Amino acid sequence: MGTTHGIVAHSMAATPHQQQKQDHQLNGNQNRATTMLCRKGCAACCIAPSITGPIPGMPAPGNKPANTRCVQLDDHNLCKLFGNPSRPAVCASLMASEDMCGTTTTQAMLYLQRLELATTP
Ligand code: SF4
Ligand code: SF4
Repeated sequence: MGTTHGIVAHSMAATPHQQQKQDHQLNGNQNRATTMLCRKGCAACCIAPSITGPIPGMPAPGNKPANTRCVQLDDHNLCKLFGNPSRPAVCASLMASEDMCGTTTTQAMLYLQRLELATTP
């Protein structure tokens, strides 16, 4: 199972997957406290952090480097693997949260880049 980087180390606590998350890249999750929903088309968490895969389509061994767009993002910044068993577990378990996601993609990118730096050995 894929472990990651900053994102995982940080705040994931949960379970995604209800209907609303159809809109989500990494998942479309709800934050436990605030019912935060993923911003459709944001994709900051599919770009900024490093992710230990395997992610199908990424060069062997399938990891995604930090600040690199995941190959599984489509033209609308949605995950092409949503609902597919090959989607990394870490992606499916990540929850949107106000701290991480902010109110704009730029805020989310900055937060996740800082987190990446802070958790990189
Ligand atoms: S596999 Fe999907 S959810 Fe995971 S980083 Fe790539 S695009 Fe995002
Ligand atoms: S950073 Fe937050 S809002 Fe942006 S795609 Fe990820 S979970 Fe959704």
